[in-house]
Amino acid sequence: MFEKILIANRGEIALRVQRACRELGIKTVAVHSEADKEAKYVKLADESVCIGPAPSNQSYLNIPAVISAAEVTDAQAIHPGYGFLSENADFAERVEQSGFVFIGPRAETIRLMGDKVSAKDAMKKAGVPCVPGSEGALPDDSAEIIKTAKKVGYPVIIKAAGGGGGRGMRVVHTEAALINAVAMTKAEAQAAFGNPMVYMEKFLENPRHIEIQIMADQHGNAVFLGDRDCSMQRRHQKIIEEAPAPLLNPKLRNKIGERCADACRKIKYRGAGTFEFLYENEEFYFIEMNTRLQVEHTVTEMITGLDLVQEQIFVAAGEKLKFRQKDIELRGHAIECRINAEDPYNFIPSPGRIGTFHMPGGPGVRIDTHVYSGYTVPPFYDSMIGKLITYGATRNQAIARMRIALSEMLVDGIKTNIPLHEDLMADAAFHLGGTSIHYLEQKLGIQHK
Ligand code: ADP
Repeated sequence: MFEKILIANRGEIALRVQRACRELGIKTVAVHSEADKEAKYVKLADESVCIGPAPSNQSYLNIPAVISAAEVTDAQAIHPGYGFLSENADFAERVEQSGFVFIGPRAETIRLMGDKVSAKDAMKKAGVPCVPGSEGALPDDSAEIIKTAKKVGYPVIIKAAGGGGGRGMRVVHTEAALINAVAMTKAEAQAAFGNPMVYMEKFLENPRHIEIQIMADQHGNAVFLGDRDCSMQRRHQKIIEEAPAPLLNPKLRNKIGERCADACRKIKYRGAGTFEFLYENEEFYFIEMNTRLQVEHTVTEMITGLDLVQEQIFVAAGEKLKFRQKDIELRGHAIECRINAEDPYNFIPSPGRIGTFHMPGGPGVRIDTHVYSGYTVPPFYDSMIGKLITYGATRNQAIARMRIALSEMLVDGIKTNIPLHEDLMADAAFHLGGTSIHYLEQKLGIQHK
């Protein structure tokens, strides 16, 4: 087992990984920007290294600085968290070339899954159902593109192969708009991702977002750890996640989960990963794979009893998974609300100094946050300041506990989206479960009229 791990991230996930390490008796190195030097998790780490000024491209995204920090502190492995360098294949490669273990999949897997065209192709070959669409990237030939769209059926969505974060996508409803839309998406993709390649998919009108968590070791074992519903989104950003997905037939869950685990064995996947699907009319359609730990891993931890960060560390150290598929039992229900420093209804970020910070408690309440009274939320990074997770024997109990927890929570001095979460916990459609990815935006639209 490793003696020392460097955590190449910030905020709640840096603290989350640090806690997993401390529990395992592993020493931690925190790297931080100048803006985060006072953070509590930086002080709690065994060692810390300042890797640059506040802007992420000069600190958390600065590969040589992160690797030098590992060198000077004699860390043996690097945990990338989520975001920042976590899905950067060049980083994973440089880490391993420099003699450290990257806590995540092999660089070539990250590269394969980072290009959505190659990812879809690989998944199709591995037997994972995908959204119907073009065979690979769209050609330059307009007649061919028109033919493909006819075959797929309108509406279609044009997506950038290198896209991410909900950017680089355009929905097309008619043939008249098609060629122009393809040209515009290509130009935007070139500008934003340095890769003009685009592909076409059938646009699903009312899907849910359901994803499968997997864990795979380096000895050919892969297990799926249930599913999560992350349909409550705004601008493709998740706000609430829950596990298991409500109203999903367990047989369907097991069938798609088996497919994902099997695909992992086929591509020799290593570590934690998530298969993201759109789900409509009892069918799953693969959209992409995330080759890292996700924000919402917590709800899976609550219903499986596993510590996913520790499992990532065990796998990276070369250990075999200690559980088989038959050992995985999904118990109860968990919900996560992402607490963001932003206006609850117009979503404008609200960084600044927090006065009183009071967190709820009680049975089935978990809080993952790096924030405390007097903490200043820097304006440079993502607005998420923490995650409130509740667990119950049933979904209703998890919701009831969430309502109480939200009502006890106090974050003074900045705006947060807590009022929006309170609204959603009282929402009739949310209570029924199974709302589509458009539900939140539709609801907010109505509220603003
Ligand atoms: P990103 O990597 O940018 O997150 P994804 O491929 O995961 O891109 O898609 C992000 C979101 O875009 C999905 O969660 C969904 O809301 C929407 N989306 C993507 N593909 C489709 C599709 N074929 N039909 C309908 N919505 C889609």
